[in-house]
Amino acid sequence: MTREQPVSPTGRRERAVDVLVVGAGPAGLALASRLAAAGGVGVEVVDREDEPGGVPRYCLHAGFGTRDPRRPMTGPAYALHWADAAVRAGATLRTGVTVTGWSDGPPKGPPTGPPTDPLAVDVTSPAGLERITARAVVLATGARERPRSARLVPGTRPAGVFTTGELQRTVRLRHRALGRRALVVGAESVSYSAVRILREAGVEVVAMVTELPHHQVSPVTALDARLRHGVPLLVGTRVGELLGRGRLSGVVLRRADGRSTTVACDTVVFTGDWIPDHELARLGGVTLDRATRGPAVDGSFRTDRAGVFAVGNLLRGIEPAGTAAREGLLAAAPVLRHLTDGAAPAARVPVQVEAPLRWITPSRLDPADPRVATGGFILRTESGLAPWSSLVVSRAGTELHRQRLVLGATPNRTLRLSAAWTTRVRAEDRDAGPVTVSVEH
Ligand SMILES: Cc1cc2nc3c(=O)[nH]c(=O)nc-3n(C[C@H](O)[C@H](O)[C@H](O)COP(=O)(O)OP(=O)(O)OC[C@H]3O[C@@H](n4cnc5c(N)ncnc54)[C@H](O)[C@@H]3O)c2cc1C
Repeated sequence: MTREQPVSPTGRRERAVDVLVVGAGPAGLALASRLAAAGGVGVEVVDREDEPGGVPRYCLHAGFGTRDPRRPMTGPAYALHWADAAVRAGATLRTGVTVTGWSDGPPKGPPTGPPTDPLAVDVTSPAGLERITARAVVLATGARERPRSARLVPGTRPAGVFTTGELQRTVRLRHRALGRRALVVGAESVSYSAVRILREAGVEVVAMVTELPHHQVSPVTALDARLRHGVPLLVGTRVGELLGRGRLSGVVLRRADGRSTTVACDTVVFTGDWIPDHELARLGGVTLDRATRGPAVDGSFRTDRAGVFAVGNLLRGIEPAGTAAREGLLAAAPVLRHLTDGAAPAARVPVQVEAPLRWITPSRLDPADPRVATGGFILRTESGLAPWSSLVVSRAGTELHRQRLVLGATPNRTLRLSAAWTTRVRAEDRDAGPVTVSVEH
């Protein structure tokens, strides 16, 4: 239940809730709707934006929701659907509220162990400062694209350089004029969304470029961009340099064979290359997975800090909104378990991948509770995997599972691995080291 307390001597309002959800995107809202529907639990969702819904709020296209594939929802309709579900179930939804840190900082001792004191976070909003104490905190803060500065692209620093998120906000919220000719860097599904946003804003897309040998979407999506919007795709090509003072005037492209060309354009959109929004997790002393840079969770979405859970794109970067929402729904049961029995993560076994695989999530297994709520793991590969390759799961030289990839796999697209083998990871094999997933051709 939510409990309001008087203003503290420091001028901070003090509040207490059972579960605090940070982030009102599809993952956080779906979780709140199921938790609140369970009854008897005070659930509060906070989001720093002025409206709930997360990224879909900015996506006007109809690609959301799977209940009726013939009638997909637009992003704003999907955002509204989950915000409504959370509020109707009885969750408290507060927007314009940013969680800035943890009142007590990271835990003093090792994060793993029995539940300790209630968790407390610092919050700021137009109403002032607050300290919210909760019995469980669920981080659902999403992911963002690495900006140009983090991609170390040489050249000048002109206006007209965006990520897809910045492009969406510019077009959809501020209605600020874009340029006239744009280059899109990347050829995954979000890159094609960027093409659509630009075309709808009346901007000509001169080309898409990818360093990979192929686009990473369905042939229908790629053909649509080429035929309907006339956008050529340059593969095996990277951005060498940005040109222009004041406004972007062109981009130097470098081909794999060493040749260079200059494309005249006043707008460039860097797409993909996601990084989980993990700042709050990091400040809270939650262990991050080295490969995903998101919190290292087990199959019950538990981090290694007792009472702190993580769901959605925060775990690994972008997946469809339905995946994030489903994780939110499935995390409700472990959170409720934590509230009743204070179940804390025990010694956990890391799950790692070998090249060319990039990452896997969940990346920890609790042998005492090897459930994987989603029924399987999500992975990504760095380079294409041929049809009939196999994913091989092993520990200390013993093969635990083998899964054939009949169609192979493509970088930047979801790859799934069954969790049927997790019960074979035994607690008593404490010294057997991590579980490893590799590829056999
Ligand atoms: C251009 C684009 C097109 C897309 N198209 C589709 C599509 O057609 N179909 C589809 O299924 N998916 C699509 N997606 C993916 C989908 O939007 C995401 O998978 C989904 O939004 C992830 O949900 P989430 O709840 O994990 O995170 P988000 O939606 O990112 O929500 C995270 C929320 O946390 C809040 N937050 C972060 N830190 C704090 C803090 N410290 N304090 C308070 N609040 C905080 C943020 O404000 C945000 O609202 C698209 C994504 C993009 C970028």
